[in-house]
Amino acid sequence: MTTTAMNPGRLDGRLVLPGEAGYDEARTVWNAMVDRRPRMVVRCASVGDVVAAVRTARELDLELGVRCGGHSALGLAVPDDGLMVDLRPMGGVRVDPVRRRAWVQGGALLGALDREAQRYGLATTAGNVSHTGVGGLTLGGGMGWLARQYGLACDNVASFTMVTADGDVVHASPTENPDLFWGLRGGGGNFGIVTEFEFRLHPVGTRALVAEYTFPLDRALPAFRHWRDLNAEAPRQATFTASLGGDGQVVLGFVWVGDPAEARKLLPAMRGLGRTVATRVHEPSYVELQRQDDTTGRHALRRYSKGHYLRRLPDEAIEAFLLRGSTGSGEGLPNAGLQAYGGAISDVPDDETAFSHRGTVFEFGCGTGWTDPAEDAARKASARRCAAALAPFASGVYVNALSDDGAEGVRRAYSPDKLARLTTLKTAYDPHNVFHLNHNIRPAR
Ligand SMILES: Cc1cc2nc3c(=O)[nH]c(=O)nc-3n(C[C@H](O)[C@H](O)[C@H](O)COP(=O)(O)OP(=O)(O)OC[C@H]3O[C@@H](n4cnc5c(N)ncnc54)[C@H](O)[C@@H]3O)c2cc1C
Repeated sequence: MTTTAMNPGRLDGRLVLPGEAGYDEARTVWNAMVDRRPRMVVRCASVGDVVAAVRTARELDLELGVRCGGHSALGLAVPDDGLMVDLRPMGGVRVDPVRRRAWVQGGALLGALDREAQRYGLATTAGNVSHTGVGGLTLGGGMGWLARQYGLACDNVASFTMVTADGDVVHASPTENPDLFWGLRGGGGNFGIVTEFEFRLHPVGTRALVAEYTFPLDRALPAFRHWRDLNAEAPRQATFTASLGGDGQVVLGFVWVGDPAEARKLLPAMRGLGRTVATRVHEPSYVELQRQDDTTGRHALRRYSKGHYLRRLPDEAIEAFLLRGSTGSGEGLPNAGLQAYGGAISDVPDDETAFSHRGTVFEFGCGTGWTDPAEDAARKASARRCAAALAPFASGVYVNALSDDGAEGVRRAYSPDKLARLTTLKTAYDPHNVFHLNHNIRPAR
């Protein structure tokens, strides 16, 4: 196939058509419920390839999807009968340890960023599963174990290089296209395809500590209240976590990045949570910490999840969390979790980035993974019930935690003034909504 915009022989990467080697691998994403068939996949290996792919999609009037890590719960990267830009060949990371900077290509996974930066004891905020894409995570905000110390992933971006809907290459930084720089920090993939992120790195060392205290459901409430109160005083190195899984047991604790000896000073207070059925304190390296959820978060399961941001965690919210929208035994209920925000996330002035809800105290999420399509409806319904039970306490939602929430979800993810500003930016950069396979900011007509 040759179009005006793309001659496959001239690509640095490769055009992959249905039936060809690599086609099924490229269209297979994290959520196994996603089974869509692009008309073509462009495995981009250079900025020039991305430009050619965007221009081709427009010339042929094809829907355009952008794949980095493939973790979008809806599989937004994969357009049915459209053109899929597969950025994974652009997965490189270059670190300057003296300037403490990393230049990360648009298709890189978090694991590559962690690995390269950790060679020098450096890191920047990245998510909790190493096979998540830097692209989608950072453009939506980017929460991780370093965020309370150094801000979200997007707060650590010094500049972006982006291909626009017209196929132009632009830069965004505090001094170049500052409006776009604002929007790319939280506005998702709405404005173009980012081919490079320049990140600030921090000297975090290589060590971490994870503390987990397990309680039976019937003894969890007082422990949970105490844990919530300790969170309010916690040092920024600590990110408090709570989870409730299939075994019906509640695990309360924290993750610490930095000197474990400092972390251990928190343990006497944690022992005050009460009598546990199990206690686990371990000291992974930072890179091990960043991979410890890779298996539970693995590819190839059918998935459904929901989330909320919470500004407060009153006792009633804890009770709702423990019930997970059920009055029954707990069988078939989704996993539920909380992760603390605060610290450096809330230091950033609210109007500095498109990312909203910096006053969040906890992020709530519930989700489930399964293999049998016959379970689809029941699994989704249980996650929806669980999220509905926490909805009265919600103050918004993380755009990267949205699933099938549609336009209403986008309205919950951004404050009204930010949504208005994002709409103006979208109208300027992508008036025809070429980039609409995302949590979409619609251009003004
Ligand atoms: C197992 C798992 C763990 C997670 N853990 C965390 C976590 O700890 N912290 C957190 O904040 N989030 C987390 N998330 C949510 C995650 O941030 C979002 O799912 C995000 O969209 C994933 O990005 P991706 O590149 O992997 O996904 P993709 O499906 O490849 O991309 C999603 C969308 O992002 C856009 N996009 C991606 N790359 C680019 C690019 N280079 N330029 C322009 N647009 C682009 C496109 O619109 C695309 O449709 C997790 C998700 C999963 C499934």
